[in-house]
Amino acid sequence: MNDRVVLYDTTLRDGTQSEGLVLSLADKIKIARRLDEAGFPYVEGGWPGSNPKDEEFFELARGLTWRNARLAAFGSTRHRSNRPEEDPNLRALVDAATPVVTIFGKSWLLHVTEVLGATGDENLVMIGDSVAYCAAAGREVIYAAEHFFDGFKADRAYALATLRSAYAAGATSLVLCDTNGGCLTDEVGAIVRDVIATLDLPVTWGIHVHEDAGLAVANSLAAVQAGVRHVQGTVNGYGERCGNANIVTIWADLVLKAGMETVPSGVDLRGLADLSHYVAEVANLAPDDHQPYVGQSAFAHKGGVHGAATARVRHAYQHVDPELVGNQTRLVVSELGGRVNTQWRAEELGHRLEGVVDPRELSRIIKRLEAEGASFEGAEASFELLIRRLQSAYRPPFRLVDYTVLVEHREGRELRAAATGKVEVEGEVIHTAADGNGPVNALDAALRKALGAFYPQLDGVHLVDYKVRILDGGSATAARTRVLIESSSESDTWSTVGSDTNIIAASFQALGDSLEYALWKGGAALRRRDARHFTTTAPVPGAATAAVAPATIAEGGSR
Ligand SMILES: [Zn+2]
Repeated sequence: MNDRVVLYDTTLRDGTQSEGLVLSLADKIKIARRLDEAGFPYVEGGWPGSNPKDEEFFELARGLTWRNARLAAFGSTRHRSNRPEEDPNLRALVDAATPVVTIFGKSWLLHVTEVLGATGDENLVMIGDSVAYCAAAGREVIYAAEHFFDGFKADRAYALATLRSAYAAGATSLVLCDTNGGCLTDEVGAIVRDVIATLDLPVTWGIHVHEDAGLAVANSLAAVQAGVRHVQGTVNGYGERCGNANIVTIWADLVLKAGMETVPSGVDLRGLADLSHYVAEVANLAPDDHQPYVGQSAFAHKGGVHGAATARVRHAYQHVDPELVGNQTRLVVSELGGRVNTQWRAEELGHRLEGVVDPRELSRIIKRLEAEGASFEGAEASFELLIRRLQSAYRPPFRLVDYTVLVEHREGRELRAAATGKVEVEGEVIHTAADGNGPVNALDAALRKALGAFYPQLDGVHLVDYKVRILDGGSATAARTRVLIESSSESDTWSTVGSDTNIIAASFQALGDSLEYALWKGGAALRRRDARHFTTTAPVPGAATAAVAPATIAEGGSR
């Protein structure tokens, strides 16, 4: 038997059971293609009998070329009173025309009698003829034994009989499921060993577990140690309740820790971080920064002692080389980090500090700004600008001269916000006004409108996330506020920070940094926009919801 561990992805089926995760048909196709590119041998696309979107998915998938993935359609055994060929669920499974069909059936008598209203014997027949029906249609049939571990604990002989029934009917993989996710690791290992030894069947044994006891990855690995060679999971562990086993972590553990061969192969692990972030992006969920192997913080070192040691000997504080999983070491710039962290981070950004900027001076400035509430941990673009500004050759592309913000709430009317901004570019001052659905939105619109007159390339810059944190909750309204802004252009995303006792002032700093970074990064070529174009009332990009007032321009050197 082949000793490689085959990874079976069920992000598109079990993963979509996750609260807060919704995938459109187009999203599902995108993720399936990406999994195919990553080399996954099995991609479960959905449950065609349960909803029209999944049926459409398989219809669309038929027209596409799959390089590595065999697509699987998922569904249950037939209804107890239907013959297989008349059962709508089984027919939908075969009609999906996938090379693989995954059928789940009941292993636990409690479910058989209380949920299906069938007898134990009836259920064994239902499993057998459902599997046989799909096998006769030419499908590779994977049998998923739902609630297997709970069923085994309640009635070992019956749970084993369900597996025999699936095997005799033509299933070539038998997957043991901890559907409720409540088993301990030693139980999983012992039961899997018992089942494999007792049945002694020429099949591929598999495992499918949930995270409810916080053990999904550990239990999957225990099952592999006990002999299974087919592991099911979802990207980032998305799934019902607490989630499924995280296939990203399992893959890396199997290759880098257990030294096993996998399909997809261990060589492809270098795309792991990208895969994880891509799926989070398509699912519109924030990536988990602390996710093992692939999280932004997975190899981040913050303490000064760790930083200094890591800069000298990389593996001093890292369990594996981050490059193996497509991640990287980061020394976090913070007040806890010392001079070495600062220097290292700066050099990573391409700065030779020596002879240009004194790292001690930079470190001192960072500590002061952080004491005042800024944080450069999540704001690499502001950090980059900090270094630039310490260099004598750097010329900022604009100067923010001043601004006003007016928020108006009158009885019976919606809240209204308006802002004006004045910026100076090469001695020329522009003054604009804009409305917004809130003060920061209005300020953003006014600044963009003013700078847009000089730099039309800012049209492509969008504000994607805006986070506010109150730093010193004890002193209520006098507390300092930190604003973190994430911006994006077609090719890049970056984060900037501002802090002040006033939320508008903090936002103004972060907005200013964001636009300055965009110009610096994109090459701050002055591409003055035609004034007539500029004075139209076209909506300002990035402020889609804001109504924009006509611009007022004051040209000339009025400082
Ligand atoms: Zn499941």
